[in-house]
Amino acid sequence: MSSFKIRPHHGLCTAFFEGKGYSGDFVRNMANVIEMLEGDDPDIILTVGEDIICANCPNNRTHICHNSEKVAGYDNAVLKMCGLSAGDIVCWSDFRETAFEKIISAGRLCEVCGDCQWYHICGEKSLSR
Ligand code: SF4
Repeated sequence: MSSFKIRPHHGLCTAFFEGKGYSGDFVRNMANVIEMLEGDDPDIILTVGEDIICANCPNNRTHICHNSEKVAGYDNAVLKMCGLSAGDIVCWSDFRETAFEKIISAGRLCEVCGDCQWYHICGEKSLSR
């Protein structure tokens, strides 16, 4: 089975996704990626850079996010809290569960991405997880 690049902070975004996003293309792609990850449970390569979710994002015009510093900060915070490193290859479900336990259940989502434009949705949901 192939490995897919996933930004570490997307392990959090996918937990809260409810069909909203930056554009119709972005939302459709994100829904397809989540379905693939949950269905196939592939190995993923943790990547601080463009991944298969960024691919259809309107903020990614040159393969670099226009908020690249901010989102790299989210990625690095997730890696640190989960005890992982960029380039690690891990099974999707193991990564998702580790991020859930170390960040969402631990009440640390705000430390990772409290300044994200979607935090009003994800932060609220995280309180009931
Ligand atoms: S607040 Fe933003 S970065 Fe954090 S999980 Fe939600 S969408 Fe992802």
